[in-house]
Amino acid sequence: MNFYAIRGAITTSENSREEILRQTRRLLSEIKQRNHIEIEDIISIIFTATKDLDAVYPAVAARELGMTSIPLSCCQEMYVAGSLEKCIRVMIHIQLKEKRNLKPIYLDKAVSLRPDLAKVTIAIDGPAGAGKSTVAKLLAAKLGILYLDTGAMYRAMGLKVIENGGNPRESKEVLPLLPSTDIKVEYDKGEQRIYLDDREVTKVIRTQQISTAASDVGTIPAVRKKLVELQQLIAKENSLVMDGRDIGTYVMPQASLKIFLTASCEERARRRYEELKQKGMDTDFDTVLKDIIHRDNNDTNREYAPLRKADDAILIDTTNKNIDQVVNEIEGLLKV
Ligand code: C5P
Repeated sequence: MNFYAIRGAITTSENSREEILRQTRRLLSEIKQRNHIEIEDIISIIFTATKDLDAVYPAVAARELGMTSIPLSCCQEMYVAGSLEKCIRVMIHIQLKEKRNLKPIYLDKAVSLRPDLAKVTIAIDGPAGAGKSTVAKLLAAKLGILYLDTGAMYRAMGLKVIENGGNPRESKEVLPLLPSTDIKVEYDKGEQRIYLDDREVTKVIRTQQISTAASDVGTIPAVRKKLVELQQLIAKENSLVMDGRDIGTYVMPQASLKIFLTASCEERARRRYEELKQKGMDTDFDTVLKDIIHRDNNDTNREYAPLRKADDAILIDTTNKNIDQVVNEIEGLLKV
């Protein structure tokens, strides 16, 4: 067994039972989710609260989250003149079978307690099949941060239009569906799950038909605005690797690092074809190549937020490189 202690902290807006429990639940959930920890891994938790928070013990929130048999203790944080107010801190002791790199989590005003843990945001853009999602996923896992696949959101929107019998290219058929469309992203042990109107669609959006529909709905500005809002909200709260078509130019212009991944059209079609074949989908190379060309065309020629390399993005051509080489190259750039 490997033994660890993780630290975290969060602030509350007021000294009320509801707010203290809400924020403590949030803190514990984020620590668990971002570090892929299960309740069974936790040995004990020590909570502290600043002297201005006395409406409830924060440990009550842990019990509410199902931590019923974990030893919990609440103390008052030592008062230091001028220190951060209304703050809840935790020290979580855990045991894991494997060795892991665990991250402390500081949320809301508590981020000021650890300026050394500044957020990392990596934008990866490029055309379909350049290797973005594979590279982004591995890189995020290596760095212990989130991976946000924005293409999945456009795919969910494409699915919605198809299921409603609409034409994804026709904004007059897509726009009426937008207000009632609810797209959500959640994480399960670091894996992204995508929900369309509360139904999980993570797997069903991975077809050729939905690829094309996603690309088509992505040319409609109102669709982009809605999805970009969601992407920016997730980026505001998390260190992450986000991949897509307009991340470095539009969604996260302030990203810590921007990468533009590309590869020849034929190589990208070959990769997509192999991927679809492996998943047992019935398709042929020419159809995949045609789709790649169609999507390149949509992505680069749409008027609103088209695919282009941001001026400060680093270009990596993956045609003759394997995945590990690309991931290591990006990691190296981050450390420079
Ligand atoms: O990345 P993926 O192939 O899953 O994306 C599906 C389609 O969604 C792309 O072909 C692209 O046209 C569109 N898309 C987009 N902007 C993004 C991500 C994807 O327009 N940020």
